[in-house]
Amino acid sequence: MLQRISSPCQTKTWRQQLAEAVRDPAELLAMLDLPATALPELQSAAQAFALRVPRNYVARMRKGDLADPLLRQVLPGAAELAEAPDFSVDPVGDLAATAAKGVVHKYAGRALIVATGACAVHCRYCFRRHYPYSHNSAAADQWRSALAYLRDNPTVTEVILSGGDPLTLSDAQLASFAASLDSIPHIRRLRIHTRLPVVIPARIDDEMLAWIRHTRLPVVVVVHVNHANEVDAEVRRAFARLKLAGVTLLNQSVLLKGVNDDAGALADLSEALFNAGVLPYYLHLLDPVQGAAHFDVAESRARELFAALQRRLPGYLVPRLVRERAGAPAKGLVV
Ligand SMILES: *Cc1c(COP(=O)(O)O)cnc(C)c1O
Ligand code: SF4
Repeated sequence: MLQRISSPCQTKTWRQQLAEAVRDPAELLAMLDLPATALPELQSAAQAFALRVPRNYVARMRKGDLADPLLRQVLPGAAELAEAPDFSVDPVGDLAATAAKGVVHKYAGRALIVATGACAVHCRYCFRRHYPYSHNSAAADQWRSALAYLRDNPTVTEVILSGGDPLTLSDAQLASFAASLDSIPHIRRLRIHTRLPVVIPARIDDEMLAWIRHTRLPVVVVVHVNHANEVDAEVRRAFARLKLAGVTLLNQSVLLKGVNDDAGALADLSEALFNAGVLPYYLHLLDPVQGAAHFDVAESRARELFAALQRRLPGYLVPRLVRERAGAPAKGLVV
């Protein structure tokens, strides 16, 4: 049997891993034994939205395979530069729904906090790739406007930390925000949408678990996994630590052409998630954001995939297939 060489990542703190993420397309290709032929196109796409991928995540990619489902999520490409009609820079109307600095309030009962603009990984299909974060993030405002808005709105019972990726913030900042929420009586739940436990599992450290255990609020963490290959032993350990701290774990994915637009891949993903203690929540149809049209899967094909999943899996392992529409009162179920 081959001895697994332990990756140097495992000894580094999450902050080091965040800082040392791969940003140079040429380096990423070299790490994966891929030819540098398409490099100029890649570099121009990366100028519009930078390449960023933690080394730990790169280690889960197959070498020599440009079609690797993890690589496709992060590798810039010429297709991003093509203008696609009906694809916009604010596809889901977040700017119109901005209720206070760093607060997007669209749905009854829950308010979404754009905690920060920073992410550990840059996903090429991201619907917030054009969002003007620097003006609108809650942490940059010391959470002041966000907390004032939440205090003044007793109908809000669930606070959703989003971004960017809220777990790029320090635990001191997050602990202080959670403590402020604790003192607002009408807040009942804290939800965190993040890719960090997947792309840098070391993020789930004792400091983070300490404030999660400390808050009176039940915590839901919605991770963001699109393919079963993303879930390795280290990721499973990170999820297990969150569960031990009492966190409810859910997953959302985006249906992406060339990544997971296949019934087998989606079924494997649900199985891998369940084995890691996570239940599938949403499978999103792509938001029509400029630069991501090449990931789009037709709605008719999405319905077929959904039906195939229903035939193969128990109901609780079938994610809800949804499409977000600007101005709608909830995520729209596609059935
Ligand atoms: C997706 C989203 C939510 C959460 O919706 P759920 O259906 O509760 O998961 C809340 N606020 C905003 C602005 C969102 O985009
Ligand atoms: S906000 Fe989420 S999907 Fe978008 S780049 Fe960051 S981690 Fe990826």
